Amino acid sequence: MDKQSFARLQGLSANSYNAQKSLIKNVLAGRQVTCQHCGTKIRVVLPADQQTTGLFCDKGCTNIELDFVL
Ligand SMILES: [Zn+2]
Repeated sequence: MDKQSFARLQGLSANSYNAQKSLIKNVLAGRQVTCQHCGTKIRVVLPADQQTTGLFCDKGCTNIELDFVL
């Protein structure tokens, strides 16, 4: 892989990381956030629910697993 495409890749993952971070922040702040893909509401599964912790939409296209340290 040449330097340029490597830099592009890094930029991409940084972008999606930031997008994920702000999504998580919004959902945890109690805002209603909808999935970019299917438009259903994104819900949070917390460790207390004893399931996989993370953010999920109804159809499963948004599926962000979180390691909660609370
Ligand atoms: Zn979705």
